[in-house]
Amino acid sequence: MTVPFRQQLDIGLYILKQKLKGNKHYPLVLMLEPLFRCNLACVGCGKIDYPDPILNKRLSVKDCLDAVDESGVPMVAIPGGEPLLHKEIGEIVAGIVARKVYVSLCTNALLLEKKLHLFKPSPYLQFSVHLDGLEDHHDHAVNQKGVFKRAVEAIKVAKDQGFRVTANATIFDGHPAEEIAKFLDYCHELGVDGVSIAPGYAYERAADQQHFLNRRKTKELFRRVFAIGKQSGMLKKWSLTHSPLYLDFLAGNQTYTCTPWGMPTRSVFGWQKPCYLLGEGHVDSYKELMETTDWDSYGTGKYEKCANCMAHCGYEPTAANLAVANPLSMLKLAITGIKTEGEMAQEIDLTNSRPAIDVHEQIVAEQMARIHDPKLDRVKSEPAE
Ligand code: SF4
Ligand code: SF4
Repeated sequence: MTVPFRQQLDIGLYILKQKLKGNKHYPLVLMLEPLFRCNLACVGCGKIDYPDPILNKRLSVKDCLDAVDESGVPMVAIPGGEPLLHKEIGEIVAGIVARKVYVSLCTNALLLEKKLHLFKPSPYLQFSVHLDGLEDHHDHAVNQKGVFKRAVEAIKVAKDQGFRVTANATIFDGHPAEEIAKFLDYCHELGVDGVSIAPGYAYERAADQQHFLNRRKTKELFRRVFAIGKQSGMLKKWSLTHSPLYLDFLAGNQTYTCTPWGMPTRSVFGWQKPCYLLGEGHVDSYKELMETTDWDSYGTGKYEKCANCMAHCGYEPTAANLAVANPLSMLKLAITGIKTEGEMAQEIDLTNSRPAIDVHEQIVAEQMARIHDPKLDRVKSEPAE
């Protein structure tokens, strides 16, 4: 089973409780970015293009655990930057696990073997290792030879020590479906506990702007991958960690709108509006994020920067909510399987999207001003490791 039964049950019960309480805007997964510094420079990354004083910023253990408590989430994902560069990452993870909150630490795995002693295996902890494809493809995506081999070695060591380890792949244009299917076969042979696979969001600050998928291409590519998986009999063995409804959406069979508040983001900048992918401003508290974000002004068909988004952090909460609200939709999909040919579901009309606003320079200037004013600064600084 890709997501352990106990975790599925806990998260299902959490959603049910929120629905019974009548909560409309509730979070599923806290995206906790304790730093932006990374030891790689992937061509599709939109998280690391900041001046050094910002890359040196760190959330403290207290900042991180306060964010977990404030949001009340059942699950935390720790992306970055590279979280293993944070000197207190062991304490942050231990604090989250002690709260019986599930935590997925996303890492490029270059430091995983060296830092494994900081963690204890637990049903609440998984390492989610960044692997964008097979060796040549991955090393090209992360812009460095040898990274794939080191990540695979680290996965084996962590598995041997009893940790739950999954792989996470971001898919870009030009990645052939046949190769993606071979990569998923490889992950199965490697024995990872699941694979997360989703199209890359078109970050405006990423070095490579040529290879982001649009929605039509995303659906065609995922249909092809799933068709290959069905044909080879491997689809079920691939252990994809997503909700079947989200996978059906990727294959073009659902017209969903995103749930941007489903995965709220706390970074060294504060709480990010509106979602993990899109940084349009920051506030000091989770409450302020929920109460002051104009949620209706974001999403595909509403804002140009959302036009091609089909990323899991926006749409997986939509799928999870639907699965609890309408279990029959899951049952139906379990019987029919994901459709890989024929008409696709209707696409959202983009003609009324409001134009994109460039906020990057303003955000950087605001954060640099905070760094130079201790009264305003929200977080501490540490030199790079
Ligand atoms: S490993 Fe992750 S955070 Fe680091 S550069 Fe690559 S995509 Fe960005
Ligand atoms: S479509 Fe939704 S999840 Fe995607 S970038 Fe826009 S607001 Fe965020």
